[in-house]
Amino acid sequence: MADAEQIVIVGASLAGATAAEALRKDGWSGGIVLIGSEQSLPYERPPLSKGVLLGKDETTSAQLHDQQWYDDNHIDLRLGATVTALDPAAHTVTLDDGSQVSYTKLLIATGSRVRKLDVPGADLPGVHYLRTAEEAQALTDAYAAKPRVVVVGAGWIGLEAASAARERGCEVTVVEPQSTALAGVLGEEVGELFAEFHRQHGVQFRFGAGVEGFEGTDKVTGVRVDGEVIPADLVVVGVGVQPNTELAEAAGIEVATPENGSGIVAGADLQTSVADVYAAGDVVRWDHPLFGRFVRVEHWQNAKDTGASAAKAMLGQDVAHDAIPFFFTDQFDLGMEYAGDVPRGTSYQVVLRGDPKSGAYEAFWLDDDHHVLAGMHVNTWGATDGIRDLIRSGKQVDPARLADSSVDLADV
Ligand SMILES: Cc1cc2nc3c(=O)[nH]c(=O)nc-3n(C[C@H](O)[C@H](O)[C@H](O)COP(=O)(O)OP(=O)(O)OC[C@H]3O[C@@H](n4cnc5c(N)ncnc54)[C@H](O)[C@@H]3O)c2cc1C
Repeated sequence: MADAEQIVIVGASLAGATAAEALRKDGWSGGIVLIGSEQSLPYERPPLSKGVLLGKDETTSAQLHDQQWYDDNHIDLRLGATVTALDPAAHTVTLDDGSQVSYTKLLIATGSRVRKLDVPGADLPGVHYLRTAEEAQALTDAYAAKPRVVVVGAGWIGLEAASAARERGCEVTVVEPQSTALAGVLGEEVGELFAEFHRQHGVQFRFGAGVEGFEGTDKVTGVRVDGEVIPADLVVVGVGVQPNTELAEAAGIEVATPENGSGIVAGADLQTSVADVYAAGDVVRWDHPLFGRFVRVEHWQNAKDTGASAAKAMLGQDVAHDAIPFFFTDQFDLGMEYAGDVPRGTSYQVVLRGDPKSGAYEAFWLDDDHHVLAGMHVNTWGATDGIRDLIRSGKQVDPARLADSSVDLADV
C-alpha cells in the first residue's frame, strides 16, 4: 500500500490500540487514525476491578501508552469522538461532529457495553455498573465509606467487585438467579468451588433469586428479591455485556443474532463479510480454524491477539487466527487462568486434579470422547501452557491419569 493510504480503527481500547501498535511494528508507514468515544487515553480494563477497586492503583496506571507514544508513532488518536456511520462503498467513516475520514482498510474494535437491568429503581443513585475508568473510580470512592454492598450477578465482574468490597471491609451479598456462581461459564461443580471460596471470605449469596427492583427515594436503600428487601447502601450490577455491533449492521456487514452468540461475523483472517473491513476484540465472531466453528470471546488476551492478527491481515499477510481463548481472574488470594472454549449446550465431564480444599488445583472439561475442551488452574502457576498443549493436540486423554497430579500434564 502507498504511504498516502490510511488505516482507520474504530474503538480506542485494547483491541484498537494493540492493532495500531502492531501496524507500526509490522512496518506500516501510512496513516493510522484511532477513534474512540471515551475521553481517556486507551487503557486496559482488568485492573479496574482489581487494583483500582482495592484502592491500590490509580485508573491512569491502566493506560497502555502516554500521548507522547501516539505522537512518536504518528498515530492520529481522536478521543471523545464517536463514529456514527460506515460507508464501505465510499470507504469512509462519519464522526459525530459530521466530519468524514476515508480509509484504505478499516478495523472495527467497538468492544462491548454493559447490559442494563430494567427493573423499578434501576436509575437510583448508588446503583453502579463497571466498564469504564470513570465507573471504576466512582465505585472505588464509594467503597471507602464501607457501605453495605449488594452485587447483582455472580459472574466474573460480580465476583471481583464482591471480593474487592470484602477486602475493603464492606458487608457483601451477591444475588444470582442461577443455582451457584459462574454456573454459565464453568458449570455448577466448579462454579460452586468459587462460591464456597467466597463464603469463606464472608460473602453471602442469594442463589436462584432474581432482582425485582431497587428501593429508595434519593438513593438506593435496598434490593427487592423474592418479595423481601435486602438492605443496601450501594449496588453493583454485573449481568454481562453485549457487543457493539450496530454500526456494522447498519453498514450491511454480517452480524450474528443473539441466539447465535452475537458479534460481527468474520473469516479466520478476521475480515468481515465486506471487503477491506476487519473486526477485532470483544466484537468479532470469527471462524476459528482449530475448533472448526465460530467463536467470540469477551476477554483481555483475545483483544490483544485479535488486534495484532487483524493488523497483519490488513497488511496483506496470511492470517488464520487460531489462538486458544484465555482468561484470568484475581479474587482475594486466588489467581486463576482458564484456556479453551466449551460451547454452550455441549455435554462434558469435569476432571479435577489436586484438592480444591488446598486452594491450589486444576479443572478440565472433556467432551464425551475425552478430548480436552478447556482447562483452568487455581494458584498452580505455570500450568496454562500444558493445558493449551492438551487442547491443541486434539488427542484423547485418560481421565484417571489427568486427575492424578503425580502424572506430568505433558505425559497424560
Ligand atoms: C472491569 C473489567 C474487568 C475485566 N477483567 C478481565 C480479566 O480479569 N481478564 C480478562 O481476560 N478480561 C477481563 N475483562 C474483559 C476485557 O477488558 C475486555 O475483553 C476487553 O476490554 C475488550 O477489549 P476491546 O478493545 O475489544 O473492547 P472494549 O474494551 O469494550 O473497548 C471498545 C471501545 O470502543 C469504543 N467505541 C464503541 N463504539 C464506538 C464508536 N462508534 N465510535 C468510537 N468509539 C467507539 C468504546 O467507547 C470503547 O472504548 C474485564 C473487563 C472489565 C470491564
